[in-house]
Amino acid sequence: MCYVEEYLLRQRDYLLTISRAMTARLDLPSVLRLILEKAVEMLRGEAGLIALLGRDGAFRVRASYGFPARTPQLFAPLLTDIPLTHTHWQIPDLYARLQLVAASAGISLRQVVGLPLILEDRLIGVTYVFRTRDTAFSANDRQVLSSFADQAAIAVRNATLYQRLAAETRRLDAIIDNTADGVLIMDAQCRIQTINRALAEITGWTPEQARGQPCQRVIALRNQQGINICETACPLRALSTADKPQVEGDITRPDGHRTSVSITYSPLYDDEGTLVNVIGSVHDVTRFREAEEMKAMFISVISHELKTPVALIKGYASTLRREDAQWDQDTVLESLAIIEEESDHLARLINNLLEASRIQSGTLKLEMSDVSIPRLAAKAVDRFRVQTAKHELTLDFPPDFPPLLADEERLQEVFSNLISNAIKYSPQGGTIRVGGRVHGDHAELFVSDEGRGIPLANQSRLFEPFYRVDSSLGRRTQGVGLGLFLCKAVVEGHGGRIWVDSAPGKGSTFRFTLPLR
Ligand code: ADP
Repeated sequence: MCYVEEYLLRQRDYLLTISRAMTARLDLPSVLRLILEKAVEMLRGEAGLIALLGRDGAFRVRASYGFPARTPQLFAPLLTDIPLTHTHWQIPDLYARLQLVAASAGISLRQVVGLPLILEDRLIGVTYVFRTRDTAFSANDRQVLSSFADQAAIAVRNATLYQRLAAETRRLDAIIDNTADGVLIMDAQCRIQTINRALAEITGWTPEQARGQPCQRVIALRNQQGINICETACPLRALSTADKPQVEGDITRPDGHRTSVSITYSPLYDDEGTLVNVIGSVHDVTRFREAEEMKAMFISVISHELKTPVALIKGYASTLRREDAQWDQDTVLESLAIIEEESDHLARLINNLLEASRIQSGTLKLEMSDVSIPRLAAKAVDRFRVQTAKHELTLDFPPDFPPLLADEERLQEVFSNLISNAIKYSPQGGTIRVGGRVHGDHAELFVSDEGRGIPLANQSRLFEPFYRVDSSLGRRTQGVGLGLFLCKAVVEGHGGRIWVDSAPGKGSTFRFTLPLR
């Protein structure tokens, strides 16, 4: 084999090694170093370097070969004032630069060849090969180096594409992970590839636990009858291209926490129409469902609560009107008293409903004036005293209790609601204490009873509209669950807060604060 043939063969071998390395490795520094090594060998040089142009317009060494140390300053003369156009590319004063580098590196560099790295018509870097002997680089050497430079440019492009892809993937992962809606990505067999944080919270499965599981195990969507829809009516079984099926139901975590969700599935197909992934978007509709339930409950409770007094009023009124009967004075007075009581009850209920709608629409306005709370509480207590024989109502205020700036009428409602509850929920009777103390910058007021008390688990929800503690007594007593909601709105409107201390069978003490002026 003649020398030229052997030379060409070696060059081909090197380029082949490089392209294999490029497909096998994705880290740019090691690929660039391999290219440089082979180029130096091919050109029978002793050293070389590849520098890439950074976004800031400066060249930085990314691979070097044959130098004892690689300090950035060492190569500086070869990396400054490099022409950025690559037509007739030539570095001015190349030999003077070479001398500078040779002197500071402490090696006798005699010859140098420099070539630009061009990618898509843009200069992206520069490569140099050095010789320590005097033989100048030939046109053929330049030709050979240029094919290595092309390989280096391709390696840079691959690495850039890979980095861009990796960054894009990270960005997408972050978006999916941080969306408030739950997201699940499944393969064509409906096995979970990933779920995001929101869905992990809803299902109680971590993304690691969920990976590889069939989706019906993790989602296990149940309808209101408790039937597992994923098993009986999975919408993904017969998917057609245009479909974006939607299902609604409840997901229950292992700890029992339930979330009502609406799931929309989007199938993803490849160019040949084969199903590749199914993406599920899981929207939490618990609040919406609760609002619906509340509306339904509102209508049933209200209609029931309105019907009872209306029926009583109508019954007594039509009985009194009967022309064929003579009623004695006592019966007439008694009937009229019931009519009056039931009318008051109706008026209170209607008032509460109006107030509740004002609170919810944000139009509750307080009319502030100086109010003597002990006097106001005494008035309320007097009104209730005549209504109950079973309960003893007492007042407990220190004599120097200061007047407060408050909405008198609304505070009267708060006391009325709390005292009427204290009576309602202590059917065996007992003492009801109404009082207050001054603590620092606020007054703390209370209404306590010795009634049935409230389990701890129910206490946090008492102040929600339409909430009633479910018990047989609760169901027997009149009420729509608005009283405490109104109390809370009025107290908070004054800048105070309201809470309850209670235990079943131990009575309840409702407390609220009002700021002193
Ligand atoms: P309502 O009395 O109309 O049901 P409220 O909002 O006033 O509505 O009270 C909500 C629920 O809180 C009541 O249904 C009852 O279960 C409970 N509750 C309120 N006050 C007391 C109390 N003093 N003792 C025991 N339970 C109470």
